[in-house]
Amino acid sequence: MKINRRYSLRLERSELKPFVDLGLIRENDYSDLVKVVGFDLLEDDERIPSVQRLLHGRKYLTHDTATFSDDDLKGADHLALGFQWLNGYPQPDDDFGYERITYSPIGFCQGCGIKGPQITPFRLRLPPKWGRRKMFSLNWIFDEMFVETSYYDTRFRPLGLEARDVVHHKSGEILPTVKQIDLPDVDFGFQMDTSKGEICKVCDTPRYHPNVVDYLPSLDRDASAYPVFRANTYFGDGFQSFRKIVISSNVFKMLREDKVRALHFHPIKNA
Ligand SMILES: [Zn+2]
Repeated sequence: MKINRRYSLRLERSELKPFVDLGLIRENDYSDLVKVVGFDLLEDDERIPSVQRLLHGRKYLTHDTATFSDDDLKGADHLALGFQWLNGYPQPDDDFGYERITYSPIGFCQGCGIKGPQITPFRLRLPPKWGRRKMFSLNWIFDEMFVETSYYDTRFRPLGLEARDVVHHKSGEILPTVKQIDLPDVDFGFQMDTSKGEICKVCDTPRYHPNVVDYLPSLDRDASAYPVFRANTYFGDGFQSFRKIVISSNVFKMLREDKVRALHFHPIKNA
């Protein structure tokens, strides 16, 4: 695991040269309208002292994320699954209308946005344009996964995972090429540092910052019986709360072998 730091700052065109010379940015990418440049450096990058000298006395922003090697990913018993393909917005998308029809009002928290159980299928504006992809999630939705129907049938159904229909919003008809995995909700989660959580004043549920710049903490129960599940720890901020989708190392291997695209994996510390 290495920490990647994203730097962003405002530069005039006349100030670009030392940054270009260090290989941090390319002059062709610079916009005289935007004037903001960004670059990434891993924690062991030998250019860091030079960059610190360049940045001395300037205003800049940084954002740290954890990056993992292939060996890190292969060595984890469980990993959290994320999606690079967010296939549009759940419908109806005006005024968060989908929330009112998709989830039960029972269990919904006015304080942190934790949702109740799902009571109706998700509705999409258009049938998915799969291309060579097989899985996606949606904007605003961080803890659901949608899978191409034939891929679900051959790979996820044999693991014992149920699936829900997905509906075309305008016609109300079931979309035959996509299934939503009915993720098992387990009653265990991550061994979080509780001093770092914030407790919702309305529902008393602890919640954690979504950007964990490390391995995710170990699961607090033996999860070997579950190939895919939703862990019972909430992440988020403001009115957005979600849990993480967790997969076993076997499911990780399966997705790798099948070359499923547009996924993101965050390894969990082995217990
Ligand atoms: Zn709450």
